[in-house]
Amino acid sequence: MTAPARPTGAWDLSEDQLAIRNAVDAGMKKFPLEYWREADRTATFPHEFFAFAAAQGWLGLAMPTEFGGSGLGISEAVMMMEAIARGGGLSAASAVHMNVFGTNVVVKHGSPQMRQENLPDIVAGRMRVAFGVSEPDSGLDTTSLRTRAVRRGSDWLVSGRKVWISTAQVADKILLLTRTRDPEPGEPKDAGLTLFFTDLDRRHITVKEIEKLGRAAVDSNELFIDDLLVPDRDMVGAEGRGFRMLLDGLNPERLLVASEAVGIGRAALGLAVDYAKERHVFGRAIGQNQGVQFPLADSYARLESAWLMILRGAALYDQGRDCGAEANIAKLLGGEYGFEAADRAMQVLGGYSYAKEYHVERLWREVKLCRLAPVSPELILCYLAERKLGLPKSY
Ligand SMILES: Cc1cc2nc3c(=O)[nH]c(=O)nc-3n(C[C@H](O)[C@H](O)[C@H](O)COP(=O)(O)OP(=O)(O)OC[C@H]3O[C@@H](n4cnc5c(N)ncnc54)[C@H](O)[C@@H]3O)c2cc1C
Repeated sequence: MTAPARPTGAWDLSEDQLAIRNAVDAGMKKFPLEYWREADRTATFPHEFFAFAAAQGWLGLAMPTEFGGSGLGISEAVMMMEAIARGGGLSAASAVHMNVFGTNVVVKHGSPQMRQENLPDIVAGRMRVAFGVSEPDSGLDTTSLRTRAVRRGSDWLVSGRKVWISTAQVADKILLLTRTRDPEPGEPKDAGLTLFFTDLDRRHITVKEIEKLGRAAVDSNELFIDDLLVPDRDMVGAEGRGFRMLLDGLNPERLLVASEAVGIGRAALGLAVDYAKERHVFGRAIGQNQGVQFPLADSYARLESAWLMILRGAALYDQGRDCGAEANIAKLLGGEYGFEAADRAMQVLGGYSYAKEYHVERLWREVKLCRLAPVSPELILCYLAERKLGLPKSY
């Protein structure tokens, strides 16, 4: 694929972008809802889907061409992730999410050797990477994390705990945020946080799966890190600057999660609409009642508005312009409206919504996560209150 000429309007889709969505839609048909229900029931990573995504070039869509990617932007990546999530929910999106964009920090700040040795494998699906930031006592307040990396000759010795680390059951590598020194007086709290891209060495990292509400096909785990020896060459960028580098990727990450939430909301809406046409109660289709139509039509409108904000944020990012507010608003709206659409779909299916056979309950369980992580609606509102309304910082 070559880089498409982007339309000047932030929300018009170019023919190339539409072609990407159509191609992903067609590909997702090979993995029907029954495939995902089974992956969820058996808590099995969707290896066939992952291999298919790699073969289609989806994993490398936003990766530079020199490493085997297509060199496209976030505008194309949100199109793809929306379509993947609309086809398979978060079970599908989370299986590929890290490969698609999670290693952007390595693309931007990794050494030439680190990039050359790893990025082609990530693009080709030969390597899976976990993202090791959250800790038991440090979620949204990232800078309070306690995992320590201590100098040992030319290497580092890492010990600590991480929590919720997704795909660690199947990952080969981990992006690991650690503290290498405490901030000096007057320095910001993130000074001294250092990022490594290193082997997920199971001799020194115990991985314990967390039983969770949804997305069972893509594992999340507690990590117990005990004297993990990390070579100096595995450091990403400069020592003590790890958090700053991760911040670079925050806005596109929010746009991608928002697009996944919108995709799931649309999938649930579609199932509810089909059901509302077919289910007859009191002698007529339930979809003939405005009480059933209105919440669905309202969700349709809300998802469209979230989608426009996603496209606008992505267009700004791809043009190298500031998209902080747009990315945060997109994440807020995508998460809220995506969940709301799935919740309303549950109501329309009535008692049958509770049956796994009808698929909506899985989408509902999965899309809840898009409200919780990687950033909560509350923290987004804190950001908007401070940055857009000029109110005092509240956290
Ligand atoms: C299934 C799953 C997969 C995940 N995968 C990964 C992964 O791969 N890698 C990784 O590093 N992390 C991962 N996470 C972790 C995720 O990023 C965190 O759960 C998220 O950042 C929230 O952190 P927390 O749960 O510790 O919430 P906390 O920071 O403990 O916050 C709890 C609640 O308090 C609210 N709150 C806190 N402060 C304020 C305030 N000042 N004003 C208003 N409200 C406030 C928050 O909004 C939130 O609702 C995953 C989480 C889940 C559930």
